This record gives sequence, C-alpha cells and structure tokens, in this order.
Amino acid sequence: MDDLILRGGIIAGTQQDLAIQHGRIRQIAPRVSTPAQTTLDTSAKLVLPGFIESHIHPDKAFIADRTSGLRRDGPSPQVLVAQLKKTFTIEDIYERARRVMLFAIRHGCTTMRAHVEIDAFAELRGVEALQRVQAEFAGVLDLQLIAFAQEGIFHDEVTQGLLREGLQMGLPILGGCPYMDRDPRRHIDWFFNTAEAAGVPLDFHADSGDDPSGLTCDYIAEQTIARGMQGRVTLGHLCTLDMLEPDHRARVIETIRQAGIHIISLPATEMHVKGRADKHAWRGVTRLEELRAAGVNVAISTNNIVNPFTPYGHPDLLRQALVTAMAAHLGNLDQMAWLLDLITINPARAIGLKDYGLAEGCRADLVVLDAADPAQAITEQAEKLWVFKAGRIVARNARTSEVFVTPEALTR
Ligand SMILES: [Zn+2]
Repeated sequence: MDDLILRGGIIAGTQQDLAIQHGRIRQIAPRVSTPAQTTLDTSAKLVLPGFIESHIHPDKAFIADRTSGLRRDGPSPQVLVAQLKKTFTIEDIYERARRVMLFAIRHGCTTMRAHVEIDAFAELRGVEALQRVQAEFAGVLDLQLIAFAQEGIFHDEVTQGLLREGLQMGLPILGGCPYMDRDPRRHIDWFFNTAEAAGVPLDFHADSGDDPSGLTCDYIAEQTIARGMQGRVTLGHLCTLDMLEPDHRARVIETIRQAGIHIISLPATEMHVKGRADKHAWRGVTRLEELRAAGVNVAISTNNIVNPFTPYGHPDLLRQALVTAMAAHLGNLDQMAWLLDLITINPARAIGLKDYGLAEGCRADLVVLDAADPAQAITEQAEKLWVFKAGRIVARNARTSEVFVTPEALTR
C-alpha cells in the first residue's frame, strides 16, 4: 500500500497521479488505482520537485535594522556587515538562521546549500550555530554547509587555519571569494590546493565587479580543467561576464562549459547593489540565457535576506524567478517555462543531489503550486499549496481573498 497519492497534478505538462511509498516516488501514471493510506486532490495543480536554494547566507540574515544600509559614497555592504559580524554570538546566528529555514520551508524549499562565514571576525561561531540548525531540521530541510571566506584569506594570520578547521568540523565544501584579496589568482590557487588536499568541491563567489580586467572565471575554469575537477566547481555572481565584448564573452562561456562549472546567478542582490556609480546603469545580472544556450548548467538563488546586500531579500525562490524574468529579459512563455528549472533540477545538479526529480525512485521532495503552468506560477506568484519532504507534508499554505463584483458593488 502506498503512503500517499497525489491525484491529477500537472506533471511534465499532463495530468497524472503520483504515488509515494517509504519517502520515495513509487509511480507516476495517468491513473494509479492501488490503495493508499491518504490521497490528496491536486487536480490541475503544478507539481514540481522541491525548490533548491543553492547559494544563501543564513548567518548574516535579518540584520538590516543594525546598519544604515547602502548610501551614495558610503561603505560597501561587505564593510557594513564585517563590522556587525564581530558582535554575532552563536545564539544570535542560530536564531536568525532558524528563521530563514522556516521561511524557506514555507516557500517550498527542500534542500539548501548555505555559505558559513569563517574569518577573524566571525571565527567558527557560524559553523557551530549552523550545524545546530542543520541537526534540528534534519529530515525536513536538508542543509549543506560551505566553509566560506567572505573576507579573503591574506588579510590576517588566522583565516586560512580557521577554514581548514571548518573542514575538519565536517563542512563538506570550500568557498572562496577571490575579489576580496589583492591577488585573486593567489587566492584561487590556495582554494584549489586546499580543496584537492581535503577532497572537497569548491564554490566561489566570483566576478562581482564591473571591471572586465578583474575577470577571474576564466582562470578558475582553466584550473578546474587542469586539476580534473570538472563538475565539482560552482560560481556565484559572475556579474563581470555582462561587461565583456560579445566575442570575448562567448570564448569565456565556452571555457566554463568545458570545465563543467555550475553558475548560480543572484539577481535580487545584483539589482540592489550594482550600478550605483554614475558611469553606467549596469545591473550586474549575468548572461543567463547565453550561458544556458551554450550548455552551461545555470541556477538562481536568494543569496541575502534582510541585510545591506539585499534589504528586501526573502527565501522565496518563486519570487527569485520573477526577479530573474524582469532582470534578464526572460519573460516570454518558453523562457518562463525553463526558468523554473533554475530553482529545481539545475541547482540539484550543481550541488550534487542524487535521486532528485519527478521520476519513479526519486525522493518525494515536492512542491504543489496553485497554478497550472510555470508562466502562471511566476506571473501570479502562485501559493505553494503543499510542500513535501521525503513524502511527508512539511508545509501547507492557503491564501484567502474575496473580490466583491456584484452588480451593486460595480455601480456604486
Ligand atoms: Zn553570496
């Protein structure tokens, strides 16, 4: 007997039943007639695999009220947050990160890869707090943690050792930030050497600026190939790509493709932070459509939540899909159809998830939207009616609305 059957949901464009047994998808078919403990009417509702936040910062979420935010000629968000980080306690980080997790679940996220800042300011307090959150949410929202060097690694004597300690504490991914050090190539080399020695994948914040001469993704791609790490390197941001001449850009994209690098765009942050100087109205969002057309695996993610990087950030990937449609000229119906891949199957591939997707045998991590197709889901910001983790309902959402269109109301 199945544990649960979802009846009549839209799966791969047609109405189908989906049967769940022991936390996995047992069958997808136009009609499943075997018995089940529970059946749920999902007729004509879009069924998707659970959303995946592939690049997010729960440790510095919900701190916008502790800072003045970005001002003309004022400090960068990195500087504003670096000051605040010194005051973060484990308990403080834990409480804010926990809040991020609850919102993410409510919005259909079933797996998250988070950057945990490790440096002279935060030391290892973020690791301790996030590992506590990870244990608490086990089985409800899977949390992968990255040992992340937001402040660079050559400004003090302690950060490199702390990052290694983070890996020893069990963090399975190493995260670099080349633009935070004066010699980005030296930074990148250190990360490849350390990742190779530890046998972990890499996830860089790369090319956040608007100066083409500061490009690093080409060097990262070369190193990825030279060291045989194809498929194990991910880059967030990649804003500089948008500033390259078309021929140069096409060559760089081809190298990225050959290196099997995964790209994660963070449009909400780029739209808030980038192009604030007078010289041009650069919006900073990378070339998602060109990358995708070239065969590069591209994803989008929330990145920041209520802090100087994105004061209105919220862990709602359907919202990110709409922001992306606006920011990257991806509003045609065919484009909105594949935009949802950028918050589901593509990030799943980027972060190495196994048994993920809408296929028999996959884990029943699912979200059911109050929409019949991707364009409607994005346009109407449809409610996430049910969220399932391994076949178990972890969130149920409903919206109520009353629109009064009686003849009397219209003529009044
Ligand atoms: Zn980030």
